[in-house]
Amino acid sequence: MSALPKSPSEIQARPLADVPTVKLLINGEFVESQSTVWRDIVNPATQEVLARVPFATPAEVDAAVAAGKEAFKTWRKTAIGARARIFLKYQQLIRENMAELAAILTAEQGKTLPDAEGDIFRGLEVVEHASAIGNLQLGELANNVAGGVDTYTLLQPLGVCAGITPFNFPAMIPLWMFPMAIATGNTFVLKPSEQDPMVTMRLVELALQAGIPPGVLNVVHGGEDVVNAICDHPDVKAVSFVGSTKVGTHVYNRATQAGKRAQCMMGAKNHAIVMPDANKEQTLNAIAGAAFGAAGQRCMALSVVVLVGEAQQWVPDLVAKAKTLKIGAGTEKGVDVGPLVSCAAYDRVNGLIERGVADGAMLELDGRQPRVPGFEKGNFVGPTVFSGVKPGMVIYDQEIFGPVLCLAAADNIDEAIELINRNVNGNGTAIFTQSGAAARRFQEDIDVGQVGINVPIPVPVPLFSFSGSRGSKLGDLGPYGKQVILFYTQTKTITQRWFDDSTVSHGVNTTISL
Ligand code: NAD
Repeated sequence: MSALPKSPSEIQARPLADVPTVKLLINGEFVESQSTVWRDIVNPATQEVLARVPFATPAEVDAAVAAGKEAFKTWRKTAIGARARIFLKYQQLIRENMAELAAILTAEQGKTLPDAEGDIFRGLEVVEHASAIGNLQLGELANNVAGGVDTYTLLQPLGVCAGITPFNFPAMIPLWMFPMAIATGNTFVLKPSEQDPMVTMRLVELALQAGIPPGVLNVVHGGEDVVNAICDHPDVKAVSFVGSTKVGTHVYNRATQAGKRAQCMMGAKNHAIVMPDANKEQTLNAIAGAAFGAAGQRCMALSVVVLVGEAQQWVPDLVAKAKTLKIGAGTEKGVDVGPLVSCAAYDRVNGLIERGVADGAMLELDGRQPRVPGFEKGNFVGPTVFSGVKPGMVIYDQEIFGPVLCLAAADNIDEAIELINRNVNGNGTAIFTQSGAAARRFQEDIDVGQVGINVPIPVPVPLFSFSGSRGSKLGDLGPYGKQVILFYTQTKTITQRWFDDSTVSHGVNTTISL
């Protein structure tokens, strides 16, 4: 069976008069782009065009960076408490506007309303963290490193920093970035995903309402050209990127080549190990939620499950669990699996399912072309399960980013760990077991950034940093948590001596001693 391809909505020459346009934010003003290249923002459940987004011109990128550079002169000296109070106000505004934000997010991205609230809430936690960042942005002091000499450090902001974000968390991921950069004293240029920038822009409006001064936060829209302009710009000091491995690798190379700091959180193929002693019902529920929630469009989705030993008998139970999920528009009550973000994503995922069959995997549950009454034009693919999946099959080797679960088998935990460590990605993983020894063995030997023990999607709270290993991350510092302080500041080390009559030395000292 092959699903009918959908015609992708494409780049437009200019905006149509009757459709709202997404604005740029430059120096505190929401401005209409002068671009001649625009893209539709489409509701993936209905194909309704919600708005159009510009691909900013080089002059607009320059203006955004220039505004950030100018604002940095005063923002870097703004008192820690004054910065903190803006983020305290901001978290309150996000809470007050949660329902509206979730509705915008669901309309343009597709995920269910409760999941959209989760997306916003996980970002809100980072805003709360930003309001307390002064507790972590502390230097060190050593007294009397030589006679009458003290040495201490200042963690000073860098200047204009930039963020480039993906479509799948249009609230959480922008909120991983600009609050952290700004709270530590930097100014920021954000480049949201061109597929769903509307909720990001509403969050940006609320940030200004909370008191972020003109020029401290700027937004440009676009794709490859705008991203390259950010990577090349001599006045941008650091770039934080979240998205696919291909683009993230390009961004890392280009930005670091231009002398910037860069951190790139990238693609994934997250495996879970199911041991035969796992709590069955809890494990089946956890896997179904993590494989098919958000239609599998999460960088932390569990897309491969390695069934160990007797757990290989659980395939029918997993399929039965997947069948219980309701497919539909994210706005409908009781829906578990919304549409894929775009027609292009729909075609790609359907093509990969076809490829899985051709490569010899067993299609246990086929989610193609589900019936969704009232939303016949939506980009829906239902939960799909393959068994007998092995390295070398395209559905194993590629990130599908859709509601497709690949089941693999292993005789024991050693074999399962070895399989995971051989995969090029190292974003997230989980083990389901009742054995402390097996869990500890897993945590010690697995080479993956985020590890869950009976927790399917272990995205760290902001007390810690998001990480990632091997092909899933470039750059060594994380986007929030303690590590982010070092990313967004540079350390200045000061060695000082003050003279009074008793310490004045006589004569020239030509040695290196203090
Ligand atoms: P993407 O790489 O296509 O896009 C990310 C950003 O890069 C967007 O802002 C986009 O405009 C820009 N971009 C796209 N093509 C470009 C090009 N050729 N040159 C320069 N910039 C370009 O990613 P996506 O499809 O929006 O998001 C899904 C991907 O993001 C998945 O691979 C997913 O695993 C990954 N992701 C990773 C994490 C993580 O923390 N590791 C989190 C969320 C998503």
